[in-house]
Amino acid sequence: MQETAVEIPAHATGSVGDWVAPATMQALVKSRAAPGAELREVAVPEVGAQDVLIRVLAASICGTDLHIYLWDPWAQGRFHPPMVFGHEFCGEVVAAGEDVKHVRVGDYVAAESHVVCNACYECRHGLQHICRSVEIIGVDRPGAFAEFVAIPEQNAWVTDRRFPPEIATIQEPMGNAVHTALSAPLAGSTVTVFGAGPIGLFAVPIARASGARKVIVVEPSTYRLDLARRVGAEVAIDPASQPVVETILAETGGEGTDVVLEMSGNARAIGQALRALRHGGYVSLLGIPSGAVEVDLADGVIFKGATVQGIAGRRMFETWYQTRGFLEMGMDLRPIITHRLPLRDFARAFELVSSAQSGKVVLFPNDPGE
Ligand code: NAD
Ligand code: ZN
Repeated sequence: MQETAVEIPAHATGSVGDWVAPATMQALVKSRAAPGAELREVAVPEVGAQDVLIRVLAASICGTDLHIYLWDPWAQGRFHPPMVFGHEFCGEVVAAGEDVKHVRVGDYVAAESHVVCNACYECRHGLQHICRSVEIIGVDRPGAFAEFVAIPEQNAWVTDRRFPPEIATIQEPMGNAVHTALSAPLAGSTVTVFGAGPIGLFAVPIARASGARKVIVVEPSTYRLDLARRVGAEVAIDPASQPVVETILAETGGEGTDVVLEMSGNARAIGQALRALRHGGYVSLLGIPSGAVEVDLADGVIFKGATVQGIAGRRMFETWYQTRGFLEMGMDLRPIITHRLPLRDFARAFELVSSAQSGKVVLFPNDPGE
């Protein structure tokens, strides 16, 4: 992280009204290889020839940000402090590099957080979401818990201004839910979501809007089970107090669930999901387990003739068009956004995210707060 102010390069022209690029900004910096983060004055990022500079209007917190904040083993192996983190955001384009062709200064944009190489085998097969040289904004390059962030033009997703910043920013994690849900046939199906974190919660209305006959949610946090009911889950199962597999079988006439959307990453949940699956059912795995998981492949997958699909990120940009479509249909995700805080209240925000007494938590980096 550069401590000194940098000039916005001459080619990064354009302004919104009388806006003039400042030299420095407030940003949440993961400054040391230890738990926590610091609000600091840092240089406004440089704008490369193919980049746009965005004034961040909202930045939501993802589980990945919590890993970085708490400095867990995954973060220790991947993140290199000091750097600004945060990768779910939206804002207004305030400057554009000289080679930017499609995005305009003044555009309201969200962002695909995966910066892909466009050169590897997968990218050249139209599978950019599994690019093997992916760089994630806020993980591998400076992120969006800041007043400004610079990203490649190709990662900016122009968004209709009728969607407020708190909705525009969650298109990225909502896209995870859309990608996971739409990887299985949902029309007329019983769909069981394991894990009602923000992504599992988004999956509930998405499954319903896609024609699911019944949506069942399994989640140990009663706060999140209540949210799941509010956004359309017919059955809410607490694995701590209810028999998960038996309840799902009873709710599906003894057949088992047609579709599993695994959004917990919990090893026990994965075992239960395979046992509660009907023969010929579909499993989309999004949740990331903390280590290797033992599963009964013979009975859970092979003899059931199950289809198991791993889900990484969002398809570029098919998933973004689908996500926009759901929002334009009027899907209301506001009940899932439970907390809105200025960036300076980041400590409270991370406490809320780690407590599971929250849905989506959104930070506002350009809001000075009370
Ligand atoms: P989250 O941690 O907020 O949600 C996980 C939920 O699972 C929590 O509410 C937790 O209480 C619940 N859970 C724990 N044990 C359970 C059990 N036994 N049965 C059912 N639920 C249980 O995370 P999120 O932001 O909603 O993301 C969901 C998952 O997807 C996480 O594992 C995350 O790491 C992963 N993820 C994957 C990708 C990808 O590209 N594959 C992208 C984003 C997030
Ligand atoms: Zn690639």
